Amino acid sequence: MTGVLYVVATPIGNLEDWSPRAVATLKAVSVIAAEDTRHSGRLMQHFAIGTRLIAVHDHNEGAKVESLLADLQEGRDIALISDAGTPLISDPGYRLVAAAQQAGLRVVPIPGACAAITALSAAGIPSDRFVFEGFLPARSAARSERLRELAGETRTLIFYEAPHRVQECLQDMATVLGNERRVALGRELTKTFETIRQLPLGEMLAWVSSDADQQRGEIVLILEGASAEAGEQDWREADRVLALLLAELPVKQAAGLAAGITGLKKNALYERALQLKA
Ligand code: SAM
Repeated sequence: MTGVLYVVATPIGNLEDWSPRAVATLKAVSVIAAEDTRHSGRLMQHFAIGTRLIAVHDHNEGAKVESLLADLQEGRDIALISDAGTPLISDPGYRLVAAAQQAGLRVVPIPGACAAITALSAAGIPSDRFVFEGFLPARSAARSERLRELAGETRTLIFYEAPHRVQECLQDMATVLGNERRVALGRELTKTFETIRQLPLGEMLAWVSSDADQQRGEIVLILEGASAEAGEQDWREADRVLALLLAELPVKQAAGLAAGITGLKKNALYERALQLKA
């Protein structure tokens, strides 16, 4: 019998959110692979979980995978946890889970908190279709570039953001996407100073800039997607620009220039240019 790899979510703040199944699983396994053993040690102590912890984080996960797989092959159960929330969601664990799946081992999720889903559930921004973008680039130029790439995305967008960058991130969002797009800020979710507020980007920026408390703690941003109508308008404009450029230039060059002019993706414009040419 081979062992089972349990992927166990931990609380994102409020310890009462943790499920009895998660606690029982961590008590029963042979070893817990934790992102930070000191941090998780406190949680284990609180819940009287005596299982041995070993460190598996971004810097050593690749090197640890082989020995953890060997443990599983020899029949030992392992639990994977991260500092908070669901492992693999902007957290380590992907390489271990992928390797276990590829080796045909059983991987069992023990679900629980995830900041992205927790924020989405209370944001009042459409939740039927959404994209998780994790952390945006830390530097403004790269962040704005990524936001431009995402400008036409009609699904709701979910971002994690560091508190010391939230103001400049909202500033870049407002600059690239306009003041009117709605955004929800979910801060310190499930904790004492939990704040969830939804406003147009321009007003959110003004509020966060004027209140230093909103630039503290842990933050999720839930951004309304582009309206489908705006997306259509963008493409009508792109077709017009492409048609003009294609009259003078080869497809590749026309698509590159059109991307610079419209902010739409070069690959998508290249495909569109080929259709227009046909
Ligand atoms: N794996 C975690 C999850 O399932 O949500 C996310 C880990 S990621 C390294 C940490 C980021 O998640 C924080 O910087 C913040 O953006 C978000 N986050 C975690 N806990 C949060 C909370 N209680 N309130 C708001 N955001 C939180």
